[in-house]
Amino acid sequence: MVYIKKICPVCGDEFFVLKDAEEKAIYCTLECLTKAQDEKKRQIPAPCDLFTH
Ligand SMILES: [Zn+2]
Repeated sequence: MVYIKKICPVCGDEFFVLKDAEEKAIYCTLECLTKAQDEKKRQIPAPCDLFTH
């Protein structure tokens, strides 16, 4: 089996994934995946952010 070294965009850690799973595996842990998804949500401003400043 061939493993590919990748760098997690969230925490910067190096991790290894199976070559077959390379495209699906972006983050080193589920925790980092969750963090990345949370940050994506935060980029969309909530309506109250637009009107209270
Ligand atoms: Zn990570």
